[in-house]
Amino acid sequence: METFDDRTPVLIAGGGLVGLAASLFLARQGIRSLLVDRHPGVSIHGRARGINQRTMEIYRAFGIEADVLKAGAPFDDEAGVARCETLAGPWEWLYEQEAPRAWPDLTAGEFCMADQNTVEPILIDAAVNTGAVHRFNTELLSFDSDENGVTARIQDRVTGERRTVRADYLIAADGNRSPIREKLGIARPDAYTFLHSR
Ligand SMILES: Cc1cc2nc3c(=O)[nH]c(=O)nc-3n(C[C@H](O)[C@H](O)[C@H](O)COP(=O)(O)OP(=O)(O)OC[C@H]3O[C@@H](n4cnc5c(N)ncnc54)[C@H](O)[C@@H]3O)c2cc1C
Repeated sequence: METFDDRTPVLIAGGGLVGLAASLFLARQGIRSLLVDRHPGVSIHGRARGINQRTMEIYRAFGIEADVLKAGAPFDDEAGVARCETLAGPWEWLYEQEAPRAWPDLTAGEFCMADQNTVEPILIDAAVNTGAVHRFNTELLSFDSDENGVTARIQDRVTGERRTVRADYLIAADGNRSPIREKLGIARPDAYTFLHSR
């Protein structure tokens, strides 16, 4: 009979916004999980910034809305967000500072501009304080699935130690290029439309 170093109901591969949120949501439902991310910690670079109202409603339910709003508080002299081809050329304003961030008739959530690198630590604290287990510097090397679950091989990138993990479920939170999705043959449409700004 095969033996495993770790057993967990849910293995989460990837500790970006998706993996960290999944880890928090599962912990709040009382479901144990193990999250692994190959990097030493969250990205130090700002990435996704605009957090929509529905996400803020969900963050409220999980008790982190106030912290995220604080992380996204406008600068004192912030003018908004504009895009342009050159700084000297015409600017198209995407969000002006005076633009409303809340539509109370439609949603309890308030649009928030908090950088991903400030939101991810908030998600980590909330998840770990609720019992989630995170292992950074740990890479998912490979996995096999069967009718009862998943057997994964992970490696500590500092010590080189390799472990096998048996999980009922594997969440592929390994980013937009997701090798897990590729391996499972989950297709992507060639093109899609997320937003029309006009
Ligand atoms: C410069 C930049 C600006 C951006 N600006 C915006 C924006 O304004 N608005 C917006 O909505 N989006 C923006 N994005 C996109 C946004 O960052 C992504 O949509 C978001 O990070 C996706 O979250 P995710 O959790 O799916 O993936 P990621 O944040 O990419 O997280 C995936 C994680 O998986 C880990 N991982 C991958 N493979 C393995 C493995 N084998 N084992 C262990 N760990 C693994 C990686 O280390 C990574 O931490 C921007 C991205 C960049 C790069």
